[in-house]
Amino acid sequence: MPRSAPTPCRYPGCMAVLTNPGYCDSHRALVHRDYGRMRRSFDNEVGFYQSSTWRRLRANFLRLHPLCKACADQGQSIAAGVVDHITPIKEGGARLDKSNLQSLCVSCHNRKTARETAGKRAGG
Ligand SMILES: [Zn+2]
Ligand SMILES: [Zn+2]
Repeated sequence: MPRSAPTPCRYPGCMAVLTNPGYCDSHRALVHRDYGRMRRSFDNEVGFYQSSTWRRLRANFLRLHPLCKACADQGQSIAAGVVDHITPIKEGGARLDKSNLQSLCVSCHNRKTARETAGKRAGG
């Protein structure tokens, strides 16, 4: 009974021999997980912002800190509409630690987000 020639797993250094070209069972799962990782971490972050824990904390924080922090630093009193993570979650900042939160107005928050995105593109 002729069969296709055995081929090694394409994962570097893996000694598994397969009847079909590609990855062995364990490395196939590994490679797929890598593909899905970016997407999943994004979904997790979105899920966090929709969680009741965050919504409650956010509402509480805005009640305690109703003015934009960045505008206050400039001597202006602008109503805040956003609770911002000082160290972004995707950079390892604490999600629910009040010391990592600040109230910002929408335009200050947009400016901060744009700065973070620009910084990332520049490689910093
Ligand atoms: Zn393998
Ligand atoms: Zn502001």
